[in-house]
Amino acid sequence: MNLRPPFGSARVASEDRAGAILTVDLKALVENWRILKKRARPGCDVGAVVKANAYGLGLEPVARALTQAGCSTFYVAHLDGAIALRHIVGPGPRIACLNGPNRGTERDHVAFRIMPVLSTPEHVAAWRTYALKEEVLLESIVQVDTGMNRLGLSEKEFVQLMGDADGFVGLHPQMLLSHLACGDEPGHDMNRQQRDRFIARLGEFRTRFPDAKGSLANSAGLLLGPEWHFDYARPGIALYGGNPFVSGANPMLPVAYLRARIIQVRRVDTPGMVGYGAAARVGEGAKLATVSMGYADGFLRSLGQKGVGLLDGLKVPVVGRVSMDLITFDITNVSESAARPGNFIEILGATQTVDQLSAQAGTASYEILTSLGDRFHRRYLPA
Ligand SMILES: *Cc1c(COP(=O)(O)O)cnc(C)c1O
Repeated sequence: MNLRPPFGSARVASEDRAGAILTVDLKALVENWRILKKRARPGCDVGAVVKANAYGLGLEPVARALTQAGCSTFYVAHLDGAIALRHIVGPGPRIACLNGPNRGTERDHVAFRIMPVLSTPEHVAAWRTYALKEEVLLESIVQVDTGMNRLGLSEKEFVQLMGDADGFVGLHPQMLLSHLACGDEPGHDMNRQQRDRFIARLGEFRTRFPDAKGSLANSAGLLLGPEWHFDYARPGIALYGGNPFVSGANPMLPVAYLRARIIQVRRVDTPGMVGYGAAARVGEGAKLATVSMGYADGFLRSLGQKGVGLLDGLKVPVVGRVSMDLITFDITNVSESAARPGNFIEILGATQTVDQLSAQAGTASYEILTSLGDRFHRRYLPA
């Protein structure tokens, strides 16, 4: 054995070294994209939102699988994500950068053919100045606010720019975009209101740019029905298996499977307390399993005393607080053969879904997925 530097790489496989294993089913991901495509109005381009490292599941494998399936429009939040994506998918696919161009980044948008989403008068002015100075044709997307007050030109700003003959000069907007605030609640009034406002703005916009396309729907918007689809749909969470609606059956297939390794199994011989803060009490005879995963891996601390795992088909509750690298579960009812160090407790899967876990944590599936850490062994099942 060589115990001196250089030590070389680890001898044991990554999956045997890791505390937890994240499996991403790329076949299910692609199938989810196809399910959405079938639901979409004919002619509507169904793209993929791959911001935040493809919702925590890995930009590269996700983007490759979707590109191979025929997806040709991608949406990311930041320019760095967009550039990374361009290297992955090659020159063909459209890439839109949702958070817009930071000052001075126009050159990189042009070099990597990234379409910025222009959401403020400052974005529009900077893009116009650059286009006129460089005399280049720069494609872009214009975002209008239709009721969310988060990002996008207000009605007043939009009208002002439309009224100014030079307002949009130099811009070659391919698309007018807006975002739904309450798409996940199908009965919410906002959905209809935002759609009607969007139709009005798109109509005005097309008096200047007759070929401009419209894009309003996220995952939930796609499932609301064809009146919300327009020309480009931007699903995210549904691709990754999350339920786009706050309640009701989930039409999507699970994509992420996460299991954490049991390090210690303890039969409690004296009644006592568990974990930091001595926040939970256990009685004699209780059986506890501590796994090699914690809030540093995205198992949110708010799941303390609330989260549930699955072992040998049985639900096992979290006991006490979640530590940075450890979680203790009550496995009293689990058989001897399953309750062994080296076995795994299922954290996410087909029966313990990302929506269930997020409900236990009091958050949204989005936060569970995008919190997933980088200490897992990641396994990708091919599309
Ligand atoms: C994140 C995002 C989406 C995707 O939303 P999902 O609810 O995950 O489908 C679409 N459009 C914009 C502007 C977004 O920020």
